[in-house]
Amino acid sequence: MKDINLVIWDLDGTKYKHHDHMQDIFDNTIVEVVNKVLRDNGADPLPHQEIKEQAHQSFLDNGLSWKFFSEKYALDPHETFKTYNEMMSLNIVDSAPSKNYKAQIQNTKKIGIEHIIYTHGSREWAKRVLKKIDLHEEFADDTIFDISHTQWALKHTSIDSGYQKLIALRPFEPKTTVMVEDTERGLIAAKDMGLTTILIDRDKAHKKAPSHVDYLYNCPEEFLHAVLKENQKSET
Ligand SMILES: [Mg+2]
Repeated sequence: MKDINLVIWDLDGTKYKHHDHMQDIFDNTIVEVVNKVLRDNGADPLPHQEIKEQAHQSFLDNGLSWKFFSEKYALDPHETFKTYNEMMSLNIVDSAPSKNYKAQIQNTKKIGIEHIIYTHGSREWAKRVLKKIDLHEEFADDTIFDISHTQWALKHTSIDSGYQKLIALRPFEPKTTVMVEDTERGLIAAKDMGLTTILIDRDKAHKKAPSHVDYLYNCPEEFLHAVLKENQKSET
C-alpha cells in the first residue's frame, strides 16, 4: 500500500459498524418501502413475512434487497431506490467512530491520498450517514458515487461491473487504488481490475484473507493506521 493515491470506500458496514439490531430495523424498513411503492403504483400490499423472505433472497442474489420487487412488479428502479434510502433509519448505524478516524483521513489527505465513496445506497443516504459519524466534511458531494450513477451496475459482477462504470465517471489508476469493503464478493471484480483489496472483518470471521483479498483489518481505523505507518516508512 506504499504507492496508493486513492481509497474507494464502501459505505454500509465498512465506514461504520452496524447496530446489533440492524436486521430487524432493516426488515421493517424494506416491508414499509415495498408496500408504499406498491400502493403508490396502484397494487395491493404484500404480507410482512413474504417481503422479508424475498428481500433476503434478493440481497443474496444481487446485493440489492429491493431489486426483486422492482423487477417483479415493474416498479421504477429510481423511485424504489429513492424511497428505500429515504425511509432507511439511521438507527442501523452504531456508535460514532473515534475522533482518531477523522484525523486519520485528514492525515492521509495531507500525504496526497484521496478518498471517495462507492455505495449501493444513495448519495443522500451516504450524506446522512457521514454526518452521523462526523465525516461529512471529508466527503464532498462529488466524492460520493452511488449505484444509480453507475447505471445499476453492481460492484460484485465481474462483467461490466460497477467498477468499470465508476472508472468512467471518476478515472483512477487501479495499481495505485485500494477498495475497502465489508463483503468478500464486493472485492472480486475489484481484484480482477487490479485494485488492492481490503476486507473489513469486524466479526473476525476470517482466520486468513480469502485469495482475492490482499489485506484483512478489523476496522477502518486499523487500515488507515497501516496506510499512514507504511507511508512514514517509505518517506524515511
Ligand atoms: Mg457494505
